[in-house]
Amino acid sequence: MKTRVILLFLMAWLPGLAQAGEELVVYSARNEQLIKPIFDAYTKETGVRIKFITDKAGPLLARLKAEGRNSPADLLITVDAGNLWKAASDGVLQKTSSPVLRRNIPKYLRDPNGYWFGISVRARTIVYSTKRVQPTALSTYEALADKKWRGSLCLRTSRKVYNQSLVAMMMARLGKTKTEQVVKGWVANLATDVFSNDTSLLKAIIAGQCDVGIVNTYYYGRLVKKQGVIPVALFWPNQRGRGVHVNVSGAGITRYARHPKVAKKFLEWLSSPKAQNLFADRNMEYPANPRVKPHKIVASWGRFKQDTINVSLAGKYQRQAVKLMDHAGYK
Ligand code: FE
Repeated sequence: MKTRVILLFLMAWLPGLAQAGEELVVYSARNEQLIKPIFDAYTKETGVRIKFITDKAGPLLARLKAEGRNSPADLLITVDAGNLWKAASDGVLQKTSSPVLRRNIPKYLRDPNGYWFGISVRARTIVYSTKRVQPTALSTYEALADKKWRGSLCLRTSRKVYNQSLVAMMMARLGKTKTEQVVKGWVANLATDVFSNDTSLLKAIIAGQCDVGIVNTYYYGRLVKKQGVIPVALFWPNQRGRGVHVNVSGAGITRYARHPKVAKKFLEWLSSPKAQNLFADRNMEYPANPRVKPHKIVASWGRFKQDTINVSLAGKYQRQAVKLMDHAGYK
């Protein structure tokens, strides 16, 4: 009798214990400042302990490949569909089938084969000097190749995956010949050497070095937050056509995950309204879940039409895009 009572007690108690002991190992290309509060919120809600390392996208992928089946990682979080695509094509991710993720994340923001899912959206758009440019002079990314912008354009280096993805998507939409013409036109219009990051590009517009450029909106947001009002504004291009080029930061469960079920639950949670704001707002990005409103500063930049071509094409065309940019003299 006594044994049976103890047994029953144990049976009731053990599942709870197992759950409390759940853990997850995340490799993240997003910095600690950004992801730690998200992990903490999840641990608080579920008891799942999250261990993580952060590094740049390239080294993290190399590490996953080198570790192979001995990797402790369950989940890879990284930025840019180009990087996510590469992780999948290098075989370090596994397919995830989840009605929750399918419902929360629009089709164009996730891998068609289910290897990764966009968690936040970043828009790469045109910026211009409010002192020297009338927004009516702007229209599309392609139009920045027009002669009228000779000596007025600033661009970030073509070595950055953001620009590789932008050009890859143009190739997917416009074809190689047209895209090359455009990129050559951009290069001819450069006011100065390419920049190593979007923030210095924005500062160059403020300093009068150039009048127009292309950046991810959150860099604009960060600079405004730091400096207050700046003489630069965002412009949403291609609104009568395909829409603004968007990309994602996202995540996929690793091929040799030791806790794939825990990883899947966490990934589903990341797509939920509560986590979406935690994930997007801190870096002033857009939530990937369309039912979630962006942060009020981000919302104040206005609504715009996004290009809804599948972001995975940024990866598919990446190599060709790099070649094309090289060919066009875009450093
Ligand atoms: Fe960035």
